[in-house]
Amino acid sequence: MKGLALVSVNKAYKQGAKELHVLNDVSFDIKPGELVALIGPSGAGKSTLLHSAGLLEKPDSGDILVNGTPSASLSDKNRTALRRDTIGFVYQYHHLLPEFSAVENVILPQMITGLSRKKAHKRASELLDTVGLSERMSHRPAELSGGEQQRVAIARALANAPSVLLADEPTGNLDPETANRVFELLLKLVRSVGLTALIATHNHELAGRMDRVLHFENGKVR
Ligand code: ADP
Ligand code: ADP
Repeated sequence: MKGLALVSVNKAYKQGAKELHVLNDVSFDIKPGELVALIGPSGAGKSTLLHSAGLLEKPDSGDILVNGTPSASLSDKNRTALRRDTIGFVYQYHHLLPEFSAVENVILPQMITGLSRKKAHKRASELLDTVGLSERMSHRPAELSGGEQQRVAIARALANAPSVLLADEPTGNLDPETANRVFELLLKLVRSVGLTALIATHNHELAGRMDRVLHFENGKVR
């Protein structure tokens, strides 16, 4: 089964003598091509949920299935490989490498998978063209506007042709007009590639334009 499924996922953090149960038996699935909003108060655990769903953080129990592959029983090496092959991330703050140009930032994740520099460069150029930045490929992040930085981050997230896209407040750091344009772009890309997408946002208007909204509070989704 393609798509993303969380099955009874639990995650707690030790905070001194206490335990903070951030994910409490969380289960849901997202079909291929479905765009789902994740809404919840600050500190509810949205980042923890996205990092778990994206195989960056290991739950205490439960399983995460990516395109039908259960991840809990995989070795760290195989889980990392599954993440690289299937999942793309976009963060609120772009996390681009400041010393590298836009095109290099999109090339790097591809080189990690062993693709030749030539092929990686070709794909990076195409992706930057898709996000409307063909004129800005050799700019470093500091030379780009906030919206442009986020568009590079989106191109980078798509570099390895993931089937699942996870985004943590991808427009949270942008002014309303830029946020809207970046969201429109995300929407277009998700639709055209048929990505499985989960996007955390505080913006209820944007959430309302997605296929479905997951409300996350007190460790549970509804
Ligand atoms: P959100 O993204 O919804 O703001 P987070 O997932 O960042 O929420 O955090 C949820 C809760 O878990 C917060 O109370 C946070 O302080 C706590 N938390 C997050 N990561 C850790 C960690 N590595 N160790 C201890 N507590 C953590
Ligand atoms: P925005 O209105 O989207 O925030 P900015 O005012 O930050 O945009 O930038 C406007 C344009 O100038 C952008 O296209 C950006 O690429 C370019 N730019 C901004 N800073 C620099 C810089 N230091 N060097 C080169 N180009 C820059």
